Amino acid sequence: MRETIVAGNWKMNLNSLSIMDFIKDFPHLVEDITEVKNIIFPSSVYLYLFKEQNTILYGGQNVHFEEKGAFTAEISPGMLRDMGCKYVIIGHSERRHIFGENNDLLNKKLISVLNNNLNPIYCIGETLEERKSNKAFEVLKKQLVEGLKDIENIEKLIIAYEPVWAIGTGETATPEIAQEAHKFIRTTLNEMQSNRGENITVLYGGSVKPQNAKSLIKMQDIDGFLVGGASLVPETFAQITRIIRED
Ligand code: PEP
Repeated sequence: MRETIVAGNWKMNLNSLSIMDFIKDFPHLVEDITEVKNIIFPSSVYLYLFKEQNTILYGGQNVHFEEKGAFTAEISPGMLRDMGCKYVIIGHSERRHIFGENNDLLNKKLISVLNNNLNPIYCIGETLEERKSNKAFEVLKKQLVEGLKDIENIEKLIIAYEPVWAIGTGETATPEIAQEAHKFIRTTLNEMQSNRGENITVLYGGSVKPQNAKSLIKMQDIDGFLVGGASLVPETFAQITRIIRED
């Protein structure tokens, strides 16, 4: 079943004080909105603050595919579950491009978290260079085919299309460019998963703000957003959530 989701990726931002304020303020700003699901991805050291409340859904920004062992600084799927997480981001472009995570590694992570009953948000997206050289769809297809290799239990899978050139740059994809990519992603998922792509939630990410959320959410294959910068302030994040509801 496709859901309407507005998720916030906080990356390496905020601290315990500002997070406690967010946890206190945000639920009141969206308490009348039941048809949009908000999920927050804080830094893992602050997951305990979310475990102490039961209003906001949350998850990890990254995960290791092994359950335990000598993997210094890594976090296992079981540890995320132990902290009350139901979600995890896999393959964010910063993990791919700064930390060198490739589709094979991300496939292992996806298999592991799905087997652990977590909901992964699998991020895919092309760089500016790839788009300019007409390789965007080729890259997206490769990320889907290699990342989802041997995966059949896709009920919990969420995809985020995040063109790398739009992340943190202030440059959003136009609704038409985003819709074209989302349609391609859904068609590819349908081909790979015997038409079950229709049921997979596909989010858009890349400089989403209250000013552009409405025109993006009107697009047929955009089911919600993965938001970076604009998710750090409760009022702005709530505004994006509200705009979606009003569509
Ligand atoms: C992101 O981090 O996934 C993201 C989309 O960031 P921003 O909204 O700041 O571009």
